[in-house]
Amino acid sequence: MLLEIEARFPSATDLGFLLHKNPARLQSFELSFGRAQVFYPVAEAERCRVALLLEVDPIGLVRDRRGPAGRGFQLEAYVNDRPYVASSFLSVAIAEVFGTALNGRCKSHPELVERKLAFEAHLPTLPCRGGEALLRRLFEPLGYAIDARRLPLDPRFPSFGESTCYEVVLRAELRLRELLQHLYVLVPVLDDEKHYWVGEAEVEKLFAKGGDWLATHPERELISRRFLRHQRRLTRDALARLAGEEELDPDAVAQERDDEERALERPIALDELRRRAVLAYLDSHEVRAVVDLGCGEGKLLHALAPRRSLARICGVDVSPSALERAAVRLRLEELPEKERARFSLWHGSLVYRDARLQGFELATALEVIEHLDPPRLEAFARCVLEHARPQALFLTTPNREHNALFAGLRAGAFRHRDHRFEWTRAELRTWAEAMAARFGYAVSFAGIGVDDPVHGPPTQVALFERRS
Ligand code: SAH
Repeated sequence: MLLEIEARFPSATDLGFLLHKNPARLQSFELSFGRAQVFYPVAEAERCRVALLLEVDPIGLVRDRRGPAGRGFQLEAYVNDRPYVASSFLSVAIAEVFGTALNGRCKSHPELVERKLAFEAHLPTLPCRGGEALLRRLFEPLGYAIDARRLPLDPRFPSFGESTCYEVVLRAELRLRELLQHLYVLVPVLDDEKHYWVGEAEVEKLFAKGGDWLATHPERELISRRFLRHQRRLTRDALARLAGEEELDPDAVAQERDDEERALERPIALDELRRRAVLAYLDSHEVRAVVDLGCGEGKLLHALAPRRSLARICGVDVSPSALERAAVRLRLEELPEKERARFSLWHGSLVYRDARLQGFELATALEVIEHLDPPRLEAFARCVLEHARPQALFLTTPNREHNALFAGLRAGAFRHRDHRFEWTRAELRTWAEAMAARFGYAVSFAGIGVDDPVHGPPTQVALFERRS
């Protein structure tokens, strides 16, 4: 992961003073997630270019360690694009390595801090969820000229199509601290995936770094929402502060606090890995219509949205508020009509037959069955395998055996207070094989997450495939 900043002005090597980094030396910094190196590929009288190179340690990331908010965090093992893209790691590195410049301090050259200079920032791999259009909506109002080139998913295989990453050059005349603040806030907004849990401290960070320019930015709502990871209460708080108001409805706050707690119990790694497993299934099967059973807040639907081969992406859930959040995540109300028509969000219960669920090649049920009372499991199987009859059902549920390895979990406790049961691998197998045989499906089993030799993987998968 690389960021280069070039300045052109007479005595350009003064950039070294502004950044508190000597142009003549290579400097290394150990950060919580890897190593940052600062060096100057160009240091001439009129032109000075500094590089911030991040080496993210993917193995270290997988180990359970304390995040900046003081909570444990994990990233997905193995399948992990984090080391190669500019993301919130870059923000953390900017704050740690260029913190003084970010805060607009320079003892030796205070006059330079306030000077607007011609800067060019080069980000060779910047993930932009929302594409070039969003990149422009975020940076153009701040006065940047932008060159962007979309990168292929894999340059060796053009047929794989394009990635969400762009090579980006941003040019503007502004103060260095402004450039660093814009990158600090907007790079993770474009990536829309933070590597640590968002908490109250993030609101403070957003104000510390975005205070001056954010209040008048036309996209301030989207920026707050994404920077704060779609957490409604925090976003509302932030927007109220930008508008200079006090507010907050205590009932809503209590409810959302509860939601946040739940979110904390759900490890980020596994969540993401489960979605990737579904994407991997899609890579090798022809699927035009997918329905996510118990879609919750629509994270899987959101991950499926960029797959253009999917003509229909539907979600069903019993919780109206989860569906509302899914609609916000998918930005349904902002999509053009034709695009919006790909999506449906249905309110319904999976223990009653529902004709809307028919006609799908793939149904998914990620971490849903354990929320059903065991006597209703048969009704679920009939609803899905007998009536909806997708060509395949991709179902995941916790593997109880693996709980022994979760340090924070009491012996015998479930991972979530709403779980009605958690099964061993043998228990899932017994149930799934019986249901598959009864409704004309073949079933196979797999795991997601690190497969412990004794306790197995944390998440287990049953893949049902229709025999005819
Ligand atoms: N699949 C999502 C959500 C898992 S949480 C994910 O992987 O993140 C379980 C979800 O199942 C919740 O959103 C809950 O509202 C939903 N759910 C529970 N019982 C249900 C039922 N009978 N019918 C439909 N959805 C149900």
